[in-house]
Formats: sequence, C-alpha cells, structure tokens
Amino acid sequence: MARVCENCGGEDDEMVLVRRTYVVPESWDTPGSATTLDEPELWCWSCRSQYPHEPVDQ
Ligand SMILES: [Zn+2]
Repeated sequence: MARVCENCGGEDDEMVLVRRTYVVPESWDTPGSATTLDEPELWCWSCRSQYPHEPVDQ
C-alpha cells in the first residue's frame, strides 16, 4: 500500500523519514542560518529533491 507524503500529500512507494530544515539565506545585514525541526516527517522522493531536509536514522 502506498503511503502519503506528509509534505505534499502525494502518494509514493518510496517514503523516507526526514526532518525538515528551514533555511534563511544570507543577506547584506543578516548571516544565513538553518533550523531543523525535531519532529520527523515522511517525505516522497519529489519533496526530498526540492526542499532542504536532514535524513533521520531509523
Ligand atoms: Zn511529497
């Protein structure tokens, strides 16, 4: 049974647990930074290729 991606809601056979990372790009008055959420989510291949994230050890 296909599972549903928690990011886009699409179905995919290859779901992977990841932690979403929010990236703040560097600008002229602020250094760049990245925040990683504690709560893992199931993501499809498409979301993993488009959005920043960290893999979760399973
Ligand atoms: Zn997705």
